Amino acid sequence: MGSVEMKAVAVVPGQPGSVHLAELAMPKLSDVPNGRGVMVKVLKVGVDATDREINDALYGQAPPGHDFLVLGHECFGVVVEVGPAVEHVKPGDYVTATVRRPGGSIYDRIGRSDITSEVEYFERGINLLHGYLTEYFVDDAEFIVRMPIGLKHLHVLVEPMSCAAKAVEQAFEAQKRLQVWRPETAYVMGAGQIGLLATLILRLRGLRVYTLARAAKPNLKSEIVESLGATYVSTSETSPVELAEQVGKADLIVEATGSSQMAFASMEVVGHNGVVVWTSITGGQRRVEVPSDAVNLDWVLGNKLLLGSVNAYFRHFESGIADLALGEVTYPGVIQRILTNPVDGLENYGEMMRLLVEERHAIKVFVNVAEDAA
Ligand code: BGC
Ligand code: ZN
Repeated sequence: MGSVEMKAVAVVPGQPGSVHLAELAMPKLSDVPNGRGVMVKVLKVGVDATDREINDALYGQAPPGHDFLVLGHECFGVVVEVGPAVEHVKPGDYVTATVRRPGGSIYDRIGRSDITSEVEYFERGINLLHGYLTEYFVDDAEFIVRMPIGLKHLHVLVEPMSCAAKAVEQAFEAQKRLQVWRPETAYVMGAGQIGLLATLILRLRGLRVYTLARAAKPNLKSEIVESLGATYVSTSETSPVELAEQVGKADLIVEATGSSQMAFASMEVVGHNGVVVWTSITGGQRRVEVPSDAVNLDWVLGNKLLLGSVNAYFRHFESGIADLALGEVTYPGVIQRILTNPVDGLENYGEMMRLLVEERHAIKVFVNVAEDAA
């Protein structure tokens, strides 16, 4: 019997605009040793700026031996089969999966590939490993995260939520350096998925949150921000410096605009003992001028901290899920408004990419890969 093929959405790394429908062999449970395999039927996959930039050939590499890379790193699916050593999920459970896979550093060996010290990293759908924009995948139980049934309507948001959860957690961890740290004011730069989810997390921690984005209000982003009890600030009317003059500098800034200019601008509006977390992945070659003497002086005299945060491990997925659940009961029905643009079927990859590139009002584009039979 020949191997069964599945459809998959792929790119040819290095070739801009190469998104296409590819074929991939159906995976087997035995692809993972020691009875630890979990087979997942993919129901939905979210896409983001990373997928767009991979299709622009800014980064992304194919797995060794392949000339294409299957996209998709934000998945939601249902377990169809598990190996005998798997205990935390069973067939019928809704799940998502982490993105990074271990390299060889000590961090990788303790399950923290999100902080690998190796330059080369392995990420499903991004670098050296195929992603989830296909029909089924098999992975080690270690990387499969169970989702509560009551959150299945938020499906693909768990992966971006895990990145936002890590960014905030890292800031709080790092600020233990101060012995007491009682942040009151946070700025969130950007109201894309990470910005909105960071806004949610910070509101759930009781902070006064200002979420900054370009568009004038009212718009969907400003409505979501305000429904979360935060303040939406349009940077086309109020600059970050003007905001700081009005409400005081921030104790904590989560930067998620995708613009390195904004990342550096954030450094001018954080207060003494404050922390700035950068999360934007800027694949371009942009250069900006910065008031380096002033920032340097202020940074030293104010004991300030700049922190980078990428990816997330199992525990960040779990804390992200916990905050989605708390968010859902605190601000009912708000989070799902982030899920703006569904696309039906893998074969509609063209529409998926078009929305990602052209639709200015899209916050979250996702593909409905298969019907949920349950
Ligand atoms: C993903 C992360 C990943 C990062 C860098 C993001 O879009 O959500 O999981 O680590 O890109 O590739
Ligand atoms: Zn992403």
